[in-house]
Amino acid sequence: MILIDGKKIAAELREELKQEVVELKTKYNKVPGLTVILIGDMAPSQIYVRNKEKSANEVGLKSEVIRYPDTVEEKTILEKIEELNNDETISGILVQLPLPKHIDKQKVIETIAPSKDVDGFHPMNVGNLSSGYESSVPCTPLGCYLMIKKIEPNLSGKKAVVVGRSNLNGKPMTQLLLKENCTVTITHSRTKDLKAECLEADIIVAAVGIPELVKGDWVKKDAIVIDVGINKTENGLVGDVAFDEVSKVAKALTPVPGGVGPMTIACLLKNTIDCFKRSQK
Ligand code: NAD
Repeated sequence: MILIDGKKIAAELREELKQEVVELKTKYNKVPGLTVILIGDMAPSQIYVRNKEKSANEVGLKSEVIRYPDTVEEKTILEKIEELNNDETISGILVQLPLPKHIDKQKVIETIAPSKDVDGFHPMNVGNLSSGYESSVPCTPLGCYLMIKKIEPNLSGKKAVVVGRSNLNGKPMTQLLLKENCTVTITHSRTKDLKAECLEADIIVAAVGIPELVKGDWVKKDAIVIDVGINKTENGLVGDVAFDEVSKVAKALTPVPGGVGPMTIACLLKNTIDCFKRSQK
């Protein structure tokens, strides 16, 4: 069984991106800039944002975090986003989710210029992705996609099952696999026989949020299994896949932690650089 080492693949990607930033700096005499807006002091968001800033600095991006208290007015955030949309030194804007209840998430997402939407959540980017056009792609499914391609460069004709249909993970993952000519089944909480669906799959991507939902006897021999789930349990962090059981049948599997997580941040940096490159065209 191949243990898909997300930490290592993410480190390699960051190294490539670092090199690319050097080349872009030589060519354009400027570097891509990422601005993260962080509202409130929720511990997980603070940690994510700190990691994003550290990684951005490591690859040589110009990075900035703008912090607001959780009492900030929605209008203040929307005005700040407009200001960043018009700032030529900023290539990517990310508003860390979740937001306080009084701030309309969709309004915030739609205020970010699609060309600077490094999370790929703007309806224009969602539409472009599903139409097969160039777009920013949400970072977590993009990371999953890059790992799958490392294991199997030619996905044409493969059967893929995506477990979970969130806008963040399941839906964009489905689009990426479709683009690679997979036959994709998207499953969710109302799916009648999830085990039977999974047993058909050459590739399974689980993004659900239920500890160890996908069992060993749900997985076809030699399938590639990507575990997006991050679940806190009494036994520590576990994914949506029963790792010990599935590792006995799968061809390749991501661990939790150390699989999808590190790739998510590396893909945010990739998206920032891609936004910069498109803006120079
Ligand atoms: P979500 O809650 O938005 O969506 C979960 C999806 O799972 C829904 O579409 C739902 O229909 C489906 N579902 C629920 N119960 C099911 C069942 N019994 N059978 C089949 N499908 C079922 O979650 P999300 O934001 O997509 O996140 C999913 C998981 O991924 C969470 O554990 C989250 O913490 C993790 N996550 C990890 C990363 C990372 O970087 N590794 C990033 C984002 C999310």
